[in-house]
Amino acid sequence: MKTSVIGYPRVGAQRELKFASEKYFRGEIKAEELEKTAKAVRLSNLSAQKEKGIDFIPSNDFSYYDNLLDMAFILGIVPKRYRDLGVSELDTYFAMARGYQGSAGNVKALPMKKWFNTNYHYVVPEIDDDTVIKVSSDKPAAEYKEALDEGISTVPVLIGPFTLLSLSRYTGKKKAADFINSASAAYKELINNIGSPVISIAEPCLVKDLSSEDIDLFKALYAQILSGGQKIILRTYFGDIRDCYSDVISLGFAGIGIDFVEGKESLSLLKKYGFPDDKLLFAGVVNGKNIWKNNYEKTLSLLTEINKYAKNTVLDTSCSLLHVPYTLRSETKLSDEYTKHFAFAEEKLSELSELKAIVSAENPAETPEYKANIAIFKEERDCSDNAVKERVASIKDSDFVRLPSFEEREKIQKKRFDLPLLPTTTIGSFPQTSDVRANRLAYRKGNISEEQYKQFNRDKIAQCIKLQEEIGLDVLVHGEYERNDMVEYFGESLRGFLFTEKAWVQSYGTRCVKPPIIWGDVSREKPITTEWSVYANSLTDHPVKGMLTGPVTILNWSFPREDISLKESAYQIAFAIRDEVLDLESAGISIIQVDEAALREKLPLRRSDWYSDYLDWAIPAFRLVHSGVKPETQIHTHMCYSEFTDIIKAIDSMDADVITFEASRSDLLILDSLIQNNFRTEVGPGVYDIHSPRIPSKEEIKSALRKMLEKIPVQKLWVNPDCGLKTRDTYETKPSLENLVAAAKELRAEYEN
Ligand code: GLN
Ligand code: ZN
Repeated sequence: MKTSVIGYPRVGAQRELKFASEKYFRGEIKAEELEKTAKAVRLSNLSAQKEKGIDFIPSNDFSYYDNLLDMAFILGIVPKRYRDLGVSELDTYFAMARGYQGSAGNVKALPMKKWFNTNYHYVVPEIDDDTVIKVSSDKPAAEYKEALDEGISTVPVLIGPFTLLSLSRYTGKKKAADFINSASAAYKELINNIGSPVISIAEPCLVKDLSSEDIDLFKALYAQILSGGQKIILRTYFGDIRDCYSDVISLGFAGIGIDFVEGKESLSLLKKYGFPDDKLLFAGVVNGKNIWKNNYEKTLSLLTEINKYAKNTVLDTSCSLLHVPYTLRSETKLSDEYTKHFAFAEEKLSELSELKAIVSAENPAETPEYKANIAIFKEERDCSDNAVKERVASIKDSDFVRLPSFEEREKIQKKRFDLPLLPTTTIGSFPQTSDVRANRLAYRKGNISEEQYKQFNRDKIAQCIKLQEEIGLDVLVHGEYERNDMVEYFGESLRGFLFTEKAWVQSYGTRCVKPPIIWGDVSREKPITTEWSVYANSLTDHPVKGMLTGPVTILNWSFPREDISLKESAYQIAFAIRDEVLDLESAGISIIQVDEAALREKLPLRRSDWYSDYLDWAIPAFRLVHSGVKPETQIHTHMCYSEFTDIIKAIDSMDADVITFEASRSDLLILDSLIQNNFRTEVGPGVYDIHSPRIPSKEEIKSALRKMLEKIPVQKLWVNPDCGLKTRDTYETKPSLENLVAAAKELRAEYEN
């Protein structure tokens, strides 16, 4: 059996590409130097894979920013406004990714979207009626040749035309189907130009729900591409291809990649339809998304099943390794007790080569690699907490229900808080200025005492409260000066989490995240936020919101366990946050916000799985957090997006009292669906975009509010920015919020008269 990798991370083990790119953006280095760093990253990736004896090593999986943007660029899908800048090829590319502001002009970046069910974001290609799809760059050929020069024969990977055309945005009348001929001709030419005997084409869109038009589009595209006669491996990942399996296997691909990790039905499809003897089956058995070691016993039995139906199996990763960190070798602080259970990208290469050795041995179970792996999985991991397990096991239905009903609470709370119409508030964080970060760093490094650290934060909180009072906001926040990251901060005070030093994963472009690892059963060590909230609350007569991160977001932004279900983990975390909610309440905090910024992130790709696989535990997990509070305590939640028309019932059934969300950038379509669905939760659609340095005028905010008031009853509407203010500076925040308050006051006066 041979081994294969779909793609490798490319930011560099020490994030070399990130740092070089940022220097380039700041004008500190020239393009040649950036290219040198890029080449070094590519070559080191290749040699890591060669060293582990990987048979099918990818090339063209490298990207300066994003692979889908690369593919658009390679095929000349570059909107005119970027071409018109007349800057270098590399700068045109970066202009599409990040926008351009300079001597050549001023253009905004293309929008970004989440890449399937990952935390990676792609740049959305833009196709207009004049777009001519044609080969415009030799990147894949150049990278193929670069590897050949190193003596490594690679498999160039391309994102396929079906996925490219499906994920693009069309600005004119034309649709994907209008580009079938030009796209397939361009792919054919591109494949010819590369000159590699084997090409891998990734079509992850095939794992989504497909209509018959989708399948026709796919078939039409490949009818032409496959007539070229080259050996093409079709790669699918992030799920199974139940809507097109029989179509796919009947086409002339030399190999087909199937995901057996996330593809719930992959094996049954194989059983039902078989697999052609003349094709290679690239079996995705090594998880490309999570960091736990592969369980060889399970993988061997899976492979035994697969091999009953497929004659030529290749051991593959389930998706690109882009979604896991580089190497465990960089983790110097975690003891072997922990790290021996993990496999990052480099260690996954070893797993592939070990599995290869094991399956080709006469007696696989007797191989040292197999035995060592079995031993690790037999060992009891120090991760169990019976009290936590029992607590989750004894959940009753009533634990998910907050009483009394929303409508009654609303009355009780209106009376208690006696807020004006259109109450004003913010989402939680205030500017994390350099002094705030310096204080935290100094404390972490041991350069200042705990008391000094805290005093600094208390001073900041006092200033923040004073500022909010001056601005005239109604519901205040403490400012979140004690946190750098909304998940890490809570993870650090919860039992069961592990933190890494260098386990960075690309989120978009040069931005990387370092998700914590959920190692064991989760519980709260001690109160986390009460000290800060109570202090802030003592400084003012206004209500100050307690500020927490919700269980689903904590789970979605961590590497989850594989030995227990996501549901079980979510409930464990929910109990920990529930304890914090109840402590805040008894300490006199009357409004508590539980952020679920990432609730939508792990929504399954197929609609039919939305509830059964996800929302049916994610929403209850949130309810568990707040079901124990008194009727007069007001629960807020916040989401960083407004695309929830399709799950609007689920959002309402979180049963929060107030929800704030991003709306300033979208077209407020969400408001119609709020009415249609009798949304009862009070809402604060963001009235301005905090991601932009622009200061919104009072008039602008008023007109946004007027639009909202056409759809939302005035008694239900809150006035707030669309997200936390931590990335802004005070000189932007203050006037923006002043305008926000002034706008709310003027409208309020109209309604009160
Ligand atoms: N309360 C958090 C803040 O204001 C919410 C952050 C987020 O939604 N990403 O920073
Ligand atoms: Zn947000």
